[in-house]
Amino acid sequence: MDIKQYKREWYLKNKERLNPIQKEYNKQNKDEIKKYQKEYYQNNKEKIRMIQKNWNKNNKDKIKKWVNNWFKTNKEKISENKKKNYNPYKTSARGLAFQKITIPKGTICMECNKELAIHRHHEDYNKPLEVMLVCQKCHTQLDKIKMDRDKITITERHLNPIPII
Ligand SMILES: [Zn+2]
Repeated sequence: MDIKQYKREWYLKNKERLNPIQKEYNKQNKDEIKKYQKEYYQNNKEKIRMIQKNWNKNNKDKIKKWVNNWFKTNKEKISENKKKNYNPYKTSARGLAFQKITIPKGTICMECNKELAIHRHHEDYNKPLEVMLVCQKCHTQLDKIKMDRDKITITERHLNPIPII
C-alpha cells in the first residue's frame, strides 16, 4: 500500500474523532487559513482553473441541479435583488439595439480586431443605439470592466443575461 492510500484510509477510519478537532483548529486559525488559501490560489491559478473546468465538465447534471435548487430556495432574495438593481434603460437598450442594429456577416470585432463580431456591447444603457460590435470573448471582458466601473453585481448580470444572438 502506498503512503497516500495509507493516509487516506487512516483518515477515513479516524474521521469521526478528527472532525471536532479539525473544526476547532480551523476556527482558531481562520485568518491564517484564509491567507494560505489565497496564496495557494494565486500560485496555482492555472492548475486550479483546469481542475475546476474538468470537474464542471464531468458534473454538468449535478451543477444544473444545484443551480435549480438555489433558484428555488432563493426566489424571494432574487426578486428583491431584481427590484433593487432594475435598470429600465437596460432592457429597452438591449431590445432596441437588437431590433435596429444588425451585425453584417463577416464583421470583425471592434475590440480585438480578430474574431467575428456576434455581440452588441453597450457602454452606456442610456444610449441604446451606441453599441460596439464585438466577439463573445471581448464582450465578457468589456462587461467585466463595466461591472467594476458601475458596481453592478454579478447577481444582476446573471438575472439579466444578454440573449445569445
Ligand atoms: Zn474580440
